[in-house]
Amino acid sequence: MSAFWKIAVIGSGPAGFYATGELFRQQSWSFKVDMFDRLPTPYGLVRGGVAPDHQKIKSVAKIYNRIAENKDFRFFGNVEFGKDIFRSDILEFYDLVIYAVGSPSDRSLKIPGEELPGSHSATEFVAWYNGHPDFSEHKFNLSAKNVFVIGMGNVALDVARILAKTPDELSKTDIADYALEKFYESKIENIWLVGRRGPLQAAFTPVEVREFLELKNADVMVEGGTLQLDVESQRFIETTASKDTKKNYEILKEISKNNKYKKKKRVHFLFLSSPIEILGSKCVEKIRMVRNVLVKRDDGTIYPKATGDFMEENADLIFRSIGYHGNPLPEIPFDQNSGTIPNECGQIIDKRKDKLLRTREYVTGWIKRGPTGVIGTNKQDAVETVNRMLKTIIQEKLKPMEQNDNSVFESLLKERNVDFVSFEDWKLLDEYEINNGNSQDRPRIKVTSIERILEIIQEKKRK
Ligand code: NAP
Repeated sequence: MSAFWKIAVIGSGPAGFYATGELFRQQSWSFKVDMFDRLPTPYGLVRGGVAPDHQKIKSVAKIYNRIAENKDFRFFGNVEFGKDIFRSDILEFYDLVIYAVGSPSDRSLKIPGEELPGSHSATEFVAWYNGHPDFSEHKFNLSAKNVFVIGMGNVALDVARILAKTPDELSKTDIADYALEKFYESKIENIWLVGRRGPLQAAFTPVEVREFLELKNADVMVEGGTLQLDVESQRFIETTASKDTKKNYEILKEISKNNKYKKKKRVHFLFLSSPIEILGSKCVEKIRMVRNVLVKRDDGTIYPKATGDFMEENADLIFRSIGYHGNPLPEIPFDQNSGTIPNECGQIIDKRKDKLLRTREYVTGWIKRGPTGVIGTNKQDAVETVNRMLKTIIQEKLKPMEQNDNSVFESLLKERNVDFVSFEDWKLLDEYEINNGNSQDRPRIKVTSIERILEIIQEKKRK
């Protein structure tokens, strides 16, 4: 039997799957991959983050399913690194490890009033409407009239669009049932999207902003003449601006032409404004903002500079959507500022030991490069990490472990009473959710509690 390398991949989102796919693509190497996830369900943000009305994007899971069909792949869901398994276990039973745990937390605005009830992170809300078990009990006041979403990235647009859609539009998606019920009771009238810089600096992409022109029951508008460009911005849009920036600007101009407001809800794009305080006695009541002007730094970057022009608006619900942030893992170096694991081309740098590189530990995805890029970006990222891993194996003359018994780790989990979920188990749940969705013309109806997920898998296995 030829020697194979045993690889542990921690995290089953796009980053983890692309890294696994890249390992299996190597013709002259033999890999066995065990993938771990703290949830019993795979796919990370594809299941728990991508908007429920973006089913086309979610269909990327088909690629991951093909990777999972490889005979040398195993999935261990419901197994948490740092609780059920530890770095010492991984280094004892696996030759190499790739951490692909993403960036599950959010960044805060650091303004007074941010902790008031009614002020939330977009991360929480997105996970809630996507049926993430950790968030299913969260409460959001959808009887609010005025909602503010802070940030101009694709997540902010997802949140605003979901809030703007009618429950009937959402009812054909795989949005969590409890969330759909709440959307039927929604009293939301105004949704404000607030960007601290101008339309040419917006972080969203054209496909996503164009969707606002197609909303059934929400008019969309650009507030306060913020599409007018100064001389420098005009020159930029005519010359060096990217294709996406030019398209974004064209779409925003199209939006601004609308002056017939007939629909029940309104989405307001407000650029060049920063929240400076959230006001309220017991919960969110108002938001105080300052208008900004754009200033160019010596390095060419454009930053927002506050003017003396303030505004206060009624607000009942506020979502900050200013980017995700990684969480540290036990015994793994972490850079608190960037929320990433320090690495060189995917190989972990052990800062505590004068930048020594860890030969057997690697990272990929958002925990490697920060929360940027689309799902596909993780593919290139995985290529870099796997290449680096192979190069290190050769340079350091690493040898695969001798023990070939693939059941050892499984036994360890059983000894620790970890109720792990295999990929075959997940397929039983997948089938159950899809069948339940069929009857209501929905892609699936998600099961949103870990306890219930485990019960359903057991019931199905008994049949
Ligand atoms: P993002 O794209 O980095 O956008 C963050 C936004 O927050 C920017 O508009 C940023 O403005 C703003 N911001 C940051 N700090 C702020 C502050 N202190 N005050 C006010 N505004 C602040 O992050 P994201 O929306 O969370 O998305 C994460 C990644 O996932 C992105 O790469 C995104 O494209 C991707 N994603 C893609 C899709 C899709 O393809 N449909 C959907 C969701 C997410 P500045 O530019 O001024 O910093």
